[in-house]
Amino acid sequence: MSRTIVVGGGLIGLSIARALTERGAGEVLVLERGTLAEGGTGKSSGIVRAHYGVPSLAAMAWRSLPVFEEFGDAVGFRQCGYTVLVGEENAEPLRANIATHQGLGVEAEMIDVDTLAAMWPMMHVDDVAAAAYEPRGGFADATQLALHFGQLARAKGAQVRQQTPVARIVTAGGRVTGVELASGETVEADQVIVAAGWWSAKLVADLGIHFPIDAYRSELLVVDAGELLPDLPVVSDLVSLQYCRVEGAGQFLVGNSDHDDAEKKFVDPDNYSNVAAESSVLAYAEKVMHRFPGFPEPSVTHTYAGVYDVPPDWNPVIAPVGDVAGLTLCAGFAGHGFKISPAVGDLVADLVLEGDSTDPDIPASDFRLERFETGALLRSPHPYVGAGEMR
Ligand SMILES: Cc1cc2nc3c(=O)[nH]c(=O)nc-3n(C[C@H](O)[C@H](O)[C@H](O)COP(=O)(O)OP(=O)(O)OC[C@H]3O[C@@H](n4cnc5c(N)ncnc54)[C@H](O)[C@@H]3O)c2cc1C
Repeated sequence: MSRTIVVGGGLIGLSIARALTERGAGEVLVLERGTLAEGGTGKSSGIVRAHYGVPSLAAMAWRSLPVFEEFGDAVGFRQCGYTVLVGEENAEPLRANIATHQGLGVEAEMIDVDTLAAMWPMMHVDDVAAAAYEPRGGFADATQLALHFGQLARAKGAQVRQQTPVARIVTAGGRVTGVELASGETVEADQVIVAAGWWSAKLVADLGIHFPIDAYRSELLVVDAGELLPDLPVVSDLVSLQYCRVEGAGQFLVGNSDHDDAEKKFVDPDNYSNVAAESSVLAYAEKVMHRFPGFPEPSVTHTYAGVYDVPPDWNPVIAPVGDVAGLTLCAGFAGHGFKISPAVGDLVADLVLEGDSTDPDIPASDFRLERFETGALLRSPHPYVGAGEMR
């Protein structure tokens, strides 16, 4: 029987394992250097929305949504809705993006500012020029989703080995033959799928494959609103460049969407500060107070930081790479891989089993590595001023 090795036991590796085993792809073995979900997955804000500028990503998010709806409580899914707010300069791109989404079948609509204010009574809306709403959006728990995928994959026969770092990919005669572990053990395989986030670059570099990727440190604040909060919609605030969602028990999770000075935040993902800098706390708290003046007694309870794996266009590579048969790279999700993770697993299974995407709205060509060399980057046709990289 053929064997596929998935390197990396984060959300993406486990989603791939789930998709492959569901489709009877032979023996599947996930190798994780540490503990499942200990990388970017464990820090994820878990926001679920189909709001992307790149149509294939919107389609992936939309295709993934029924999985969140089906898994429900098992992955902490709260279908509280999703809103996006923009200033005058981004009103046209927002309308264009919503039209694209509606063309893909996404349930999304423009809403007027009064409707937004009624949905979100504590929100200051005077500087909001336009807004849109996805009633089926919300948020879930990334660690729970990763472990759930792992559980489904194991139930169908996959094996998962933790504390098992892969040292290198082994090839012979122009195709992969397996991997060598840090312990020196060799494990044979017909297919190797590298889903090791930022760390993927080193594994493929050993085979002469250049995967340009940086590690971007993203800081988060948890704010106590001063009272219990109802299930309010997630907010992508592209006026103040922040995103926010209810965290539970009166708490509110706040992240930064201002990536203008991204290179200043590139770090070593194995050695970075896990608390927000004081200057960030002050700046982000000011934005929260501006947008939500209705919170009775807000205070910052704690902060933390995570790392995005960021290619030059902030979009992933999901493709066979190099001149080595049997090697697939699936990394570079740049802080937005959670909501599309079910569809990513399906796309990798398509590539491995069928040789191409089976969904016409998700062309495999969008996610090829070669785009970084040719300059044909994967960009939104309707980018937002000030937040172009994230969507
Ligand atoms: C702060 C933050 C907030 C986010 N918020 C959202 C959000 O709201 N919505 C959204 O859609 N996305 C969000 N994301 C993005 C999303 O969470 C990630 O894209 C996704 O979890 C990445 O999963 P992954 O499996 O690719 O990477 P990781 O979770 O990093 O997993 C890679 C795994 O590979 C392992 N590994 C590395 N090297 C080796 C090796 N040599 N051998 C074996 N194993 C190895 C690592 O230990 C790690 O467990 C966020 C990310 C962060 C950091």
